[in-house]
Amino acid sequence: MKKKFDVLVQGAGMVGATTALALARNGFSVGLVERQNLDLLNGLLADEIDNRVSAISPASQKLLQELGVWHDVTSQRCSDYFKMKVWHENGSALMQFSSEQIGISHLGSIVENRLLQSVLLQHLKHLPNVQFFKQQEVTSVQQLDNRVQINTTAKAVLEAELLIAADGRGSTIRELLNLPVTSGNYAQTAIVANVNTEKFHENTAWQRFLTTGPLAFLPLSNGQSSIVWSADTERADELLQLPEEDFRLQLAEAFEFRLGQITATSQRMGFPLSWHTADKWLEGRVLLMGDAAHGVHPLAGQGVNLGFADVAALQILLKPGQPAYQRRVLRGFERQRKAETVTATHLFSALKLCYAQEAPLLCGVRNAGMSIVEKSSIIKRLVLQSAVHNMS
Ligand SMILES: Cc1cc2nc3c(=O)[nH]c(=O)nc-3n(C[C@H](O)[C@H](O)[C@H](O)COP(=O)(O)OP(=O)(O)OC[C@H]3O[C@@H](n4cnc5c(N)ncnc54)[C@H](O)[C@@H]3O)c2cc1C
Repeated sequence: MKKKFDVLVQGAGMVGATTALALARNGFSVGLVERQNLDLLNGLLADEIDNRVSAISPASQKLLQELGVWHDVTSQRCSDYFKMKVWHENGSALMQFSSEQIGISHLGSIVENRLLQSVLLQHLKHLPNVQFFKQQEVTSVQQLDNRVQINTTAKAVLEAELLIAADGRGSTIRELLNLPVTSGNYAQTAIVANVNTEKFHENTAWQRFLTTGPLAFLPLSNGQSSIVWSADTERADELLQLPEEDFRLQLAEAFEFRLGQITATSQRMGFPLSWHTADKWLEGRVLLMGDAAHGVHPLAGQGVNLGFADVAALQILLKPGQPAYQRRVLRGFERQRKAETVTATHLFSALKLCYAQEAPLLCGVRNAGMSIVEKSSIIKRLVLQSAVHNMS
């Protein structure tokens, strides 16, 4: 039997689940299709902090607070950071940013992706106007005159005014509709792990730019740090395969022993790095959001924050009592959000390129630039304000 909704969302990741919650709170009926077994996310929080964490900006926290979920995240496990320290391997300039400089309580919070996702799902479960379609995915999309219809692998036939693809980088819906993507490969892999350090992380997000790629240490609530070490693919493969003791030493050296020795490390995971922007975010009654629409380098910790900014913008536009599909409104959404994410994508690519330069003249210019930022409270405020407000 055919089931009808105002909105269908494919993908119950952080962006899809937040979209479903925001639209359900605005009174829309929502069908949420997810290929994974979401029940695996239930239950008690694991003792060990998961490897996959995100720096959640204050702007994203505001959205999550308004949706009533942020408290349930922070009451379980979350680590606020108050400072950022950024420097380059070639040069002495160090840029330091703090929440006090722009008069906010903290610059961001490090949260496990699966914790945030499971809290969102718990909230969705209690809403009568949300229905889950778990462990299935869309096999076909048909754009009808005034509806969009999908078939799923579990033989469900679902219809809605609007279909939102929040199914991540490799979006199946984007592929099914043959929507072109502009993309690039950084030929790098990001290594992710949680590590124990000799010295306390000072609730600071640290980033050292090496010519081979950025290395970040993000503070976790249990005193560990989550590292994101981006390096050219071949070098990253070597690092991923090193015996643990050798890896710990190379990591501490790459980080100039700023937090002393690395005394333990979790399992390492590698993520190939690329960027992409879908050329069209709105095709008929299908709208792309989050990583399905855009993907950036993780060096600025903005990927999911840009996705949350998509949700915040959509929630304001799709007001309670109005139709879910309003072509002019959704075109406006596409124009506004695409402009912002394209700017962010190019900015992060340019930053990565700038920090990869080894030529002495360019190193000099880069160091001079970093010193100017460090000495200018106005520039620092501007940098910080764009970071905490998700680039806008
Ligand atoms: C190393 C690394 C570090 C990062 N650090 C940060 C950070 O600090 N801050 C930050 O803002 N961002 C960060 N990011 C980016 C961030 O992880 C992503 O932007 C974010 O996960 C995107 O969320 P999403 O919900 O759009 O997509 P996803 O997280 O990919 O979720 C997609 C969901 O859709 C489901 N799905 C996929 N295909 C289908 C299908 N065919 N049918 C049904 N369901 C489907 C998946 O199972 C999943 O649940 C980082 C990324 C990397 C790689």
